[in-house]
Amino acid sequence: MAMQRSRCRSCRAEIVWATTGAGKAMPVDAEPVDDGNVLLDEDDGYLFATVVSPGQIPLDGSPLYASHFASCPNSSQHRKRQ
Ligand SMILES: [Zn+2]
Repeated sequence: MAMQRSRCRSCRAEIVWATTGAGKAMPVDAEPVDDGNVLLDEDDGYLFATVVSPGQIPLDGSPLYASHFASCPNSSQHRKRQ
């Protein structure tokens, strides 16, 4: 998947930006994780994020990712700045 990576401004982790079903931009950890709950789909150069229930494994074996809002050690700073 040709995802454009960037870095979190506060903790410098590698992230990708995806658009949620609500049309909002959401930072997602660039590497898939075993206990993730975000499914990424690439379409026409855009990444779309779908949040699935915890423990739900995609039938097609797609990797799951974690929202960087949840995993960022500095997430409280994100909220202050925005
Ligand atoms: Zn971060």
